[in-house]
Amino acid sequence: MRRTRTLAGIGIAATALLALTACNSGTPSEPATDGGDASTEPSTWFEVASDVQLEGSPTFDKMVDAGKVTIGVKEDQPNLGYLDVTTNERAGFDIDIARWIAASLGFDEEQIEYKPIASANREQAIVNGDIDYYVGTYSITDKRKEQIDFAGPYFITGQGFLVGADSDITDVKDVSDFDGKTVCSATGSTPIQNIKENYPDIKTEEYDLYSACVEDLINGKVDAVTTDQAILIGYAAKYPDEVKVVGDLFTEERYGVGLPKGDTVLLDHINTLFTDGGDIWQAIFDKNLGSSGIEVEQPAVD
Ligand code: GLU
Repeated sequence: MRRTRTLAGIGIAATALLALTACNSGTPSEPATDGGDASTEPSTWFEVASDVQLEGSPTFDKMVDAGKVTIGVKEDQPNLGYLDVTTNERAGFDIDIARWIAASLGFDEEQIEYKPIASANREQAIVNGDIDYYVGTYSITDKRKEQIDFAGPYFITGQGFLVGADSDITDVKDVSDFDGKTVCSATGSTPIQNIKENYPDIKTEEYDLYSACVEDLINGKVDAVTTDQAILIGYAAKYPDEVKVVGDLFTEERYGVGLPKGDTVLLDHINTLFTDGGDIWQAIFDKNLGSSGIEVEQPAVD
C-alpha cells in the first residue's frame, strides 16, 4: 500500500512502501492485548508475541532475565508521550510505538517499566543500561550515534515555533521578529543547538522539559518555544486560547528508537517490525495524531 501524503511545510518526499507481509511477532490482531482499554483501541492492533528468540541480543537477554522491559519515554508531551497524572495512564504515539516493540518481544503492558528521561539525559541512560530502549521524539543524529544506535526512522517532523496567541512573531526567516525576545527549548535537544549555532542573536532560555517552557510562554516570561512541530501541535491543542504554532518547519527531525550501541540483532528486529508491520503504524498514527492536522506517512527505515 503506497502512502502519498506529505509532511506539511517542508515537502519531504519520504515515500514509504508498507510491506503487507505479517511477521511472526507483533502481528495485527483484534484489539487490545496491551493492557489498554479495548474500546479505545483501533480495530487493527498488535498482539503480544510468544516464544520469542533473539539470539545474540544482550539487551533482549537482559529483559528476559529481568522479566520486564524498561523503556525510556517522555511524559509531558501531549499526543506523543504523556502521563495523565489523574488516571496514571500513559498515552501517545511514541508510547504506542514503545508498546508495539515490547509486544513484539513478548512483553505485555504489565511487564513494561516506563522511565521518564529528559532530552539531555537520553544517551547516558542508554549507555548506563538504565533503560533497554528509548522512544520519545528522539532525533537520529551522527553525534548521538557515536554513543548509541537508532532503529528507524519511524516518524519525520521538523523544527517550528510556538508563540502566544497574540504574538506577531511569524518565522525564523525574519530574525528581526526576535529582537529583544527570548526563545525557550529543552537542554540537550537538537532545536536548542540549532538556535544557538545558527541564530546566535536570538536570546535563549533552557529547561529540562518543554512543558516548563510552555508554562513560561503562557506566563509571559519567554516569547516563544521552539522544538519539533509535532510536539508543539500537542501543546497548542492543550492550550488553544493561549498559544499558537507559527512558521514553516526549518529542520528535518527523523525520530528513531534509541538502543544500546552494537546490539544489531535488536536493531534489525525493530526495523523488520516497522517494515513488515502491515497497517499497525497507521493505526498507531490515527489513534494518537489522526486529528492533529499533522500529515505524514510512515518513513522507510535506514
Ligand atoms: N527531536 C528533537 C531531539 O531529539 C527535539 C525533541 C526532544 O528534545 O525530544 O532533540
